[in-house]
Amino acid sequence: MALAKPPTKSGIGMTSLRTRERMLARLREQGIKDEVVLSAMNEIPRHIFVDEALSTRAYEDVSLPIGYSQTISQPYIVARMTEILRNGKPLNKVLEIGTGCGYQTAILSRVAKEVLSLERIRPLVMKARSHLRTLKCNNVKLDHADGSLGLNEYAPFDGIIVTAAAGHVPQELLHQLAVGGRMIIPIGTNTQTLHLFERTNTEFKETKLEPVKFVPLLGGVS
Ligand code: SAH
Repeated sequence: MALAKPPTKSGIGMTSLRTRERMLARLREQGIKDEVVLSAMNEIPRHIFVDEALSTRAYEDVSLPIGYSQTISQPYIVARMTEILRNGKPLNKVLEIGTGCGYQTAILSRVAKEVLSLERIRPLVMKARSHLRTLKCNNVKLDHADGSLGLNEYAPFDGIIVTAAAGHVPQELLHQLAVGGRMIIPIGTNTQTLHLFERTNTEFKETKLEPVKFVPLLGGVS
């Protein structure tokens, strides 16, 4: 009797295609409408960003561990934040804080001209770099840095997306937004809320969106 082989990353190809289709249907049900975002979510395979042992769960709507006490974000929240950032318009230059394994970064690379992403944990930068190379995300630049200070030398950005929860609004980041730009950031400690900031000619307009759950935004690098 032939022994069943454990699934490999390439071996779950068909399954991942079907489960990805189901993920897309679920995202539509959850209210994601931007076809550009949906097509990026369809194109980028989430299973390559998680350990092989977890790859069969890669298209479930859950966050999953990626090591170093960090997680890959839930598909819904990745799609939702990208949709809000895009606001129905093409994005030029985007800054992401908290690369993690690079899943959100890969989605951004399909909806923006240029993506800069900062991560404070060095081995995660290496992991993300390798995933993004596999997917030929050539318009992405990753850096090992504390992102709470942003990346002033590349500012201004059309979009800033923070994928770790801040205790307060980092002012440095707000000031790196272009006029007309948007920043999306989870704020809070025990309970967190997604906040949207829009820079106009005269002010930063703040809108509170929905409750979320992210790992904390920490200072320094490791
Ligand atoms: N964007 C990821 C989510 C990763 S979890 C995804 O697509 O799944 C959040 C990440 O933010 C973690 O990897 C954590 O190390 C990182 N992080 C936390 N504080 C940070 C900071 N000040 N600067 C840069 N990265 C930070």
